[in-house]
Amino acid sequence: MVHWAGKFSAVDMLFINGLLKQGHQKDMQKNPIKIPFNKPCFEGKELVYIAQAIQNGLISGDGDFTKKCHAYLEQKLGTARAFLTTSCTHALEMAAILLDLKEGDEVIVPSFTFVSTANAFVIHGGRLVFADIRPDTLNLDEAKLESLITPKTRAVVPVHYAGIGCEMDSILKIAESRGLLVVEDNAHGLFGKYRGRFLGSFGAMATLSFHETKNITCGEGGALLINDPQYIERAEIIREKGTNRSQLFRGEVDKYTWVDIGSSYLPSDMLAAFLYAQLESADHIQEHRRCVWDRYFSGLQDWARSFHVRLPRVPEYCQNPYHMFYLIMPTAQDRDKMIGYLKERGLYAVFHYLPLHQSRMGKMAAARIAACPVTDDMSRRLVRLPFYNSLTEDEQQKVIGAILDFYG
Ligand SMILES: *Cc1c(COP(=O)(O)O)cnc(C)c1O
Repeated sequence: MVHWAGKFSAVDMLFINGLLKQGHQKDMQKNPIKIPFNKPCFEGKELVYIAQAIQNGLISGDGDFTKKCHAYLEQKLGTARAFLTTSCTHALEMAAILLDLKEGDEVIVPSFTFVSTANAFVIHGGRLVFADIRPDTLNLDEAKLESLITPKTRAVVPVHYAGIGCEMDSILKIAESRGLLVVEDNAHGLFGKYRGRFLGSFGAMATLSFHETKNITCGEGGALLINDPQYIERAEIIREKGTNRSQLFRGEVDKYTWVDIGSSYLPSDMLAAFLYAQLESADHIQEHRRCVWDRYFSGLQDWARSFHVRLPRVPEYCQNPYHMFYLIMPTAQDRDKMIGYLKERGLYAVFHYLPLHQSRMGKMAAARIAACPVTDDMSRRLVRLPFYNSLTEDEQQKVIGAILDFYG
């Protein structure tokens, strides 16, 4: 057992704490009422664990903290194997390599998602088929899924938007009957559940993001979860630059060599140390975010009903992981006005996603022209409200109060 305090003097720790505090105070002076859309939050033990990683003498990948994160995710989510990656984008790329796409193979992705959900499969040879979303949860519309499948379709990538589960019963049934692999992009939904089961445990593979804007973060990071054990061995090799280095460490081979394609998808153990501190505080983080979500919902419910604004829908069989809170405004003009109106008051709301099927790259990568009218519509009317782990009740009341006055 290494004692970090022995090497990091009290003066060092005072300095580090001072820096963090100073930064916070400066921020407060400059922007007395500014409420950002997102703020990275520290749970307290991040620096201590980073110091421990440094003293462990191993700051590359797969050190003690990476192993702790793997064990945490495997135990908590019940996945066969979890691999930390440098981002969710990279976890999706690993999934794409594992699919072994051949010329002309198609992958179905929602148009309403972050670019990485689609990009990963294009980089590794796939043609995209864009799916529209349901108007209630903004998740891939399972009722339209069958019509998008051709003999070339290899996989479908449901994105659990805002961490609310896609209709996995239908999606899995269709995927099974048509021989498709399911890769869940669960960047939003760590700790979310669908019919009692954790999101990320349904597909052959699933991905997580630990980007600064997600519930649990290490700045930049992600994970590939493997539920179908037949992909574990190759995933390990792809993640280690196409070598069987992990087998060497386990003593299964006496030298390691280049056996497959791959890349460098391991985060430094210093990042894993930061991440582990956050994972250990997951209950606390999730509880705080639950309060933020509930306050938005109860504070805006009556107003929303009066002005035909839609609040997020959470089916009763879905467990919300409280990743984000959004409004669907009645018109695109109201949406743009709302963002400008809040900004004038120092409150930063944002919108997303620009429909991928309308993007320049999306059109080039698509197997066919797609119509996604619900995506087009929602993308123009959605506003995301400030949401982060340290958002206080006072700050949040400013946001809610401003919104209640929006229509005068
Ligand atoms: C954030 C996000 C990603 C990418 O995550 P990174 O860790 O930043 O690569 C992918 N898909 C969705 C749906 C996301 O929200």
